[in-house]
Amino acid sequence: MKKFDLAKSLIRKSENIFSCPLCQGPMNVSFQSNSLICKKNHCFDLSKNGYINLLPHSVKSEYGKEMLESRNTLCKSGFFYPMTKSVSDLIIKTMEPFNKRNIQMLDAGCGEGSHLKDILSNTNVNSKSNFKGVGIDISKEGIHIASREYQDAIWSVSDLSKMPFRDNAFDIILSILSPSNYSEFNRLLSSSGFLVKVIPGSDYLLELRSVLYNNTDKEQYSNERVINHFSNNFNIVATEKVNYTVSLDSSLFKHLIKMTPLSWNVTDNKIQDALNLNIQNITVDLLILIGKKK
Ligand SMILES: [Zn+2]
Repeated sequence: MKKFDLAKSLIRKSENIFSCPLCQGPMNVSFQSNSLICKKNHCFDLSKNGYINLLPHSVKSEYGKEMLESRNTLCKSGFFYPMTKSVSDLIIKTMEPFNKRNIQMLDAGCGEGSHLKDILSNTNVNSKSNFKGVGIDISKEGIHIASREYQDAIWSVSDLSKMPFRDNAFDIILSILSPSNYSEFNRLLSSSGFLVKVIPGSDYLLELRSVLYNNTDKEQYSNERVINHFSNNFNIVATEKVNYTVSLDSSLFKHLIKMTPLSWNVTDNKIQDALNLNIQNITVDLLILIGKKK
């Protein structure tokens, strides 16, 4: 099946999860116009690349195409595999008692889609349930890469603060190294659903941080504030620390620097210092939080 037809068929099968971004009414796939359309005729076309843009107005994203391509290259190298594996195992373990046949999963802020792709592959291979994935991001460039690289999920350009889905539509919401909108997560999660958030630990990219931020207040990082904010909004039911070291060649190291927000506000001289140091091993320190609605 062509990419476009495959995407249309996936959206058709899950059309009941969508709500119109303009009037919040239910939406249906129109086969004549290849779009998602509501009863008031608000119409959003499926792009030829197989994603749907559900932003009522275009928004400029701070994530550039080059940064997203770098993140895609780094993800494909396996940089985050131990994290996506742990997240997948936790999801399977958490969902098992419910014995659900179909599990609807949303990656809210999926960027270029690699994490959702890897988690969907793992969960569908290792559990009896059928995991269906939807990835959204406000960055059109990110969703463009996601739909180019992976066809077994629905990809949509959407606003995290006003997500185009009906209440209680998802069993799992993923928020991986990405900002959260807890009131929207609360609205979209079913009563038996789980929020899975991945945040940096204090040693995340330690070697890079100590070069880029030495002798500044950003040299040390604590995730305490983020954990408190999470637990004010959701009940934490499980946590897991994921800590590993990745060896990178110089080309992947350059992609890492381009990808990480750590490098966005530092001078070119500092970035050159980091490149000159020829760092070969980098620490990936992350914390997975699993939450339930209060
Ligand atoms: Zn509408």
